[in-house]
Amino acid sequence: MTKYTPMMQQYLRIKAEVPDAFLFFRLGDFYEMFFEDALKASKELEITLTARGGGPEEKIPMCGVPYHSAAAYIEKLVERGYKVALCEQTEDPKQAKGVVKREIVQMITPGTAVNAIEEKENHFLGAAVECPDGRYSIAYLDLSTGESKAAVVAGEDLLIQEMALIKAKELIFPSTVSDSFIKTFKDRGHTAISKVSAEALNFDESLLENLQGQDIKEGISLLLHYTTDTQKRSLDHLQLTEPYEVSSYLQIDPNSKRNLELTENSRSGAKKGSLVWLLDETVTAMGSRQLKSWVERPLINRSEIYERLSLVESLKHHFFERESLREQLQHVYDLERLAGRVSFGSVSPRDLLQLKRSLQQVPFIKDKLREIPDAGLNKRGEAMDACVDIADLLHASIDEQAPITIKDGNFIKDGYSAELDEYKDASRNGKKWIAELEQKEKALTGIKSLKIGYNRIFGYYIEVTKANLTALDDDRYERRQTLANAERFITPELKEKETLILQAEEKSVELEHRIFQTVRDLVKKEIPRIQKLAKDISEIDVLQAFAYVSEKRHYTKPVFSDHQLLNIHEGRHPVIEKVMDINEYVPNSCVMDESRSMLLITGPNMSGKSTYMRQVALIAVMAQIGCFVPADRAELPVFDRIFTRIGAADDLVSGQSTFMVEMLEAKHALDHATKNSLILFDEIGRGTSTYDGMSLAQAIIEYVHDSIGAKTLFSTHYHELVELSSKLDKLKNVHVAAAEQDGKVIFLHKVKEGPADKSYGIHVAELAELPHTLIQRANELLSEFEAEKHHADEGQLTLFELPEKSNQDDRKILKDIQKINVLEMTPMEAMNELYKLQKKAGKLLAKS
Ligand code: ADP
Ligand code: MG
Repeated sequence: MTKYTPMMQQYLRIKAEVPDAFLFFRLGDFYEMFFEDALKASKELEITLTARGGGPEEKIPMCGVPYHSAAAYIEKLVERGYKVALCEQTEDPKQAKGVVKREIVQMITPGTAVNAIEEKENHFLGAAVECPDGRYSIAYLDLSTGESKAAVVAGEDLLIQEMALIKAKELIFPSTVSDSFIKTFKDRGHTAISKVSAEALNFDESLLENLQGQDIKEGISLLLHYTTDTQKRSLDHLQLTEPYEVSSYLQIDPNSKRNLELTENSRSGAKKGSLVWLLDETVTAMGSRQLKSWVERPLINRSEIYERLSLVESLKHHFFERESLREQLQHVYDLERLAGRVSFGSVSPRDLLQLKRSLQQVPFIKDKLREIPDAGLNKRGEAMDACVDIADLLHASIDEQAPITIKDGNFIKDGYSAELDEYKDASRNGKKWIAELEQKEKALTGIKSLKIGYNRIFGYYIEVTKANLTALDDDRYERRQTLANAERFITPELKEKETLILQAEEKSVELEHRIFQTVRDLVKKEIPRIQKLAKDISEIDVLQAFAYVSEKRHYTKPVFSDHQLLNIHEGRHPVIEKVMDINEYVPNSCVMDESRSMLLITGPNMSGKSTYMRQVALIAVMAQIGCFVPADRAELPVFDRIFTRIGAADDLVSGQSTFMVEMLEAKHALDHATKNSLILFDEIGRGTSTYDGMSLAQAIIEYVHDSIGAKTLFSTHYHELVELSSKLDKLKNVHVAAAEQDGKVIFLHKVKEGPADKSYGIHVAELAELPHTLIQRANELLSEFEAEKHHADEGQLTLFELPEKSNQDDRKILKDIQKINVLEMTPMEAMNELYKLQKKAGKLLAKS
């Protein structure tokens, strides 16, 4: 280090504290970066790379950005998953002896950057710490709103699920985790991962008050430590961490969630086309975020669900009250984020005005809620704290016409501070006041030529011509300056006013800042109340949105069955229905119970199998978040988990449409589903050759039927599977009807009992207007195949029944297949087994 200049030594010392961040090193009006940082940043930010001396190297690479436009550059880096350490000069360069002191004043990381964030989304930072028993202590926190949650989850699967669910922008792990652990998360798109030493954690432990036991505290402790350490600013708006349990919500793993398009569509990942998009008739940003979190965590507690449903019902029935409630909510700004800015100290007078206007709406909202004859809504209205004292304080102190910046003052209201009023008065009325004093002095002394003047050196003075000097009362007048034919004086009164006038401007700006800080600190103390109010309002907002959508789209209130009955009468897929023209969607019913727990759905491509299955799942989700459902009536069980697996060939989204992924996902469902779960298997087994695909499909159906008993919708294009219903008593066939007209297929989209009777593949090809000769040829081939199959069937085994009369060798190989325990196998073992079987079959065929 000795060879570096003192400043470069300082740089290197500070840089060593943050090896994984870009160090923005303040040098006058610039933030400079050096060495590796400079090389990397110049590329990322497309800024010019220069070099400077200062060390043993000839030239140290350097690049920089002007400090006043740094925000955009920082944002760019953070968006790409990098961290930035802001290093400021912490003493006045003029006072400095030697190198100016510098310190890191803030770390900006993907999870903690809260300036340019989407208002309708939460911005979560997640953490996980492994417990001694192998479970994970997990936590997440939104720095902009101050909310945080903690839980202990059973294994890595759930940890991954939760972090995907909250879409953590950044993950924090203890520094001891392995590289392969980190890779697991990197592979799932978590680009920003920070390792933090779990020793000597420093944070406000009172935030953990609501948490019982040590395990659940581990994750949130690491997270709070990291936040405190990186932010180095006030975090008073952080709310008490709320414990939660994964099992107290309807669980839907990330893949299934994507399949069902709950919060985003599966094609582009945008909100449009998702359930949230359909339901988001909230009017506040807080409501919009709350809605998303409800959709992500549907309830399983009946009374909680019924409570929401009954509030929605009342709001639905009271159109006028609901409309004015919506209108009032429109004037409520984002209270949570405003509270965050109050805490950070970055709140502006305009922000405080927004806060005031929002609070002033609350009494009206309370009134509306009390007007509707519903005890639940009345209670919620009653419980809302309008924070009148805060609104009053802000009303009294902040000027309605406050400018955007606080630089020049003029944002504190007249009448709030007598001292400030005096300053303002002095600066505004200075001239008038001087003129008045002049008149007064003239009258007092009788000197008509007396005048009051001003110059830069002596300030204000009273000028009296030498001839008139005798008329002055000497005590009061203090000589300032003597001119050829006049004397200039000052009086205590003038002096006092002079000070007032001259310093008024400066002082009033300074005082305004002080008052502003006091007001801000008063508000800061009340942040928990504002946050509570924000939560109350966001819930009302979501409930009214449910009511609004339910009325507009003719949804009905679901009821929950005590007997595991699912009876949806004339249900619709809410999103597809919305994007279609009126009455174009064909409603379909679905009945399932203990004796009919699995439906095998057949029907041609494009007939509506996938839509039908998703419709059932979406209705279940909507019911369990407390919303009405798109059906004439619906009785439903309360599901504990929902699984949806899509056949590999249909899975256009993941990009990894391999059969292996499909099988792993199926395993996940089979491992975790219970009798109270809902499973959708959409053309599973499709990603492999016909016979093993079909065998697997059958084995899966049998397994679910015999060992799990979950309500299952299984669509398939293996027509042969329809025979299974004769063997499995809880499995029933349904099909999506299509009609043939003039040799062409017409999709009726109507689900009917029984199996589909024909494959319409060629007709669909015809619809797609493939060349006429090609279609003709396909029809010829089909007839040939059918004839062959018919021929072969005679005396040959079919795959699904072990024929008594089959020959020894065939029986042997079938027995081998039957013995395979597919569900216990690793994929590698499965491959090996398949290979062996194939070899055996090859031998047998060669023999015959
Ligand atoms: P499948 O899974 O049988 O191939 P899909 O469920 O993907 O068929 O449906 C194909 C298309 O048919 C959908 O995109 C939708 O436009 C239309 N569709 C499906 N079900 C209905 C319905 N009940 N009413 C109207 N149109 C429907
Ligand atoms: Mg489909």
